[in-house]
Amino acid sequence: MAMSQAAFKVEQAIGHDDNATTAQDVTNPDLYPDAADQSGEKMKALAWMGKNSVQIVEASKPKVMEDRDVILKVTGSTVCGSDLHLLHGTVVELKKGDILGHEFCGIVDSMGPGVTGLNRGDRVVASFQIACGQCYYCKKKLSSQCEKTNSNTLENAMYGGRTAGMFGYSHFTGGFAGGQAEYVRVPYGDVNLLKLPDDVPDEKGLYLSDVLATSWNAVVDTGVEKGDVVAIWGAGPIGQMAADFAFYKGASRVIVIDSNWRLDFIKSKIPKVETLDYSKLGRKETVTSKLKEMCDNRGPDVALECVAGEYAKGWAHYFEMLLGMETDTSEIINEMITSVRNFGRCGITGVYVGFTNHFNIGSLMERGIRLIGNGQAPVHLYWEELLKLVQKGDIDPLKMVSHRVKLEELDKVYYKFENKEDGMQKVFVETKFSSPPAAGSPELTVYAK
Ligand code: NAD
Ligand code: ZN
Ligand code: ZN
Repeated sequence: MAMSQAAFKVEQAIGHDDNATTAQDVTNPDLYPDAADQSGEKMKALAWMGKNSVQIVEASKPKVMEDRDVILKVTGSTVCGSDLHLLHGTVVELKKGDILGHEFCGIVDSMGPGVTGLNRGDRVVASFQIACGQCYYCKKKLSSQCEKTNSNTLENAMYGGRTAGMFGYSHFTGGFAGGQAEYVRVPYGDVNLLKLPDDVPDEKGLYLSDVLATSWNAVVDTGVEKGDVVAIWGAGPIGQMAADFAFYKGASRVIVIDSNWRLDFIKSKIPKVETLDYSKLGRKETVTSKLKEMCDNRGPDVALECVAGEYAKGWAHYFEMLLGMETDTSEIINEMITSVRNFGRCGITGVYVGFTNHFNIGSLMERGIRLIGNGQAPVHLYWEELLKLVQKGDIDPLKMVSHRVKLEELDKVYYKFENKEDGMQKVFVETKFSSPPAAGSPELTVYAK
């Protein structure tokens, strides 16, 4: 592997572990030497330009830098709640010009000599994490924790260990250019790409890269069992699919908690779901008191966090975060802990970055609550099984897809998604390489006149 030539360093990074085995900190082929395709071909891409600012830019087409790299022609991508954490600058170590996007599918355009099992022209989906396929965690398919693909040592200092590299997710996770672009470099392409069969169109296959695996992981990792009553915080795409999967795993009831139109959207797609709009609670009611009332005064068996730690509900946490006294609010976690029945289970899938205050450790200890960090979801553990369920029609990702948009308009779409405008739940982003919309997927929405 051409490491010495390819492993570029970012001066600002706290440190690098040289055992990492792939070219990193290549978040935009133009920002680093020797990362652009020699043809000089340009592409459109969405870049982070600073806090609360993203923009469509022109960048160079990436090239194969290492033996097992694949260059993909991107045919589909999307925006995720995780991208909002980047937009807001909540996730550390972004640099101006970084190309974003960790969920994408495409067609194999070229590849290094070390790639096996793929051919030019294959239609594939990428996992949001970059796995080497050979380390301790990869052998167990716990791909989100690959030990070889993230050389940034800041995570070790903060967390005592670190995650795998991720596409389009800052230098904190290795610094890889993302797929909200016309082309993308996929390291270890033979490991991180899954072929899509003809009966699974891009509009369904794309979501195997993250949302389906993540929601599935939230449900199975928190141990949802037959007959469970499951409460889910957050009615975004992750919460929606977690609701679907909780029923699939035998939950008797699923209650989704949020404060906007998304509750009605989910109810229209999954009629069995019950909803709790916390903006409509009475003066003396809380999410916990309401859930107790809805669940035999005991509470649900399981609570799933599908929101994130950056959204404070009350002023105390708002100011503590603003002043840097904590990075994440504990409000939702505390609601989950106090809401579930004694010995209930709580799983955290929404992103938490650092430290939180006022955590209700007493309730957790005294009542035997099992609090589980679900981790960045290990996509490789689930995606083959999930693909089969999509093929059989047991899972329909189109349930959450509300819009189809053009890559050229993705900067506008970020702000619409952020503000939950236009009934936007999950988008499918097409490029000039995409096929026409598949049956059942939304028609193109064009925002410019
Ligand atoms: P999203 O931002 O679209 O949805 C979040 C929803 O939470 C919104 O509808 C919002 O109104 C709601 N919300 C805000 N505050 C709330 C509160 N106090 N109580 C209840 N609901 C509240 O995000 P998404 O795409 O659905 O993703 C959800 C979370 O999952 C994000 O944090 C995302 O980063 C994370 N995620 C984790 C993984 C993983 O592998 N662990 C993968 C993908 C996404
Ligand atoms: Zn995502
Ligand atoms: Zn690995």
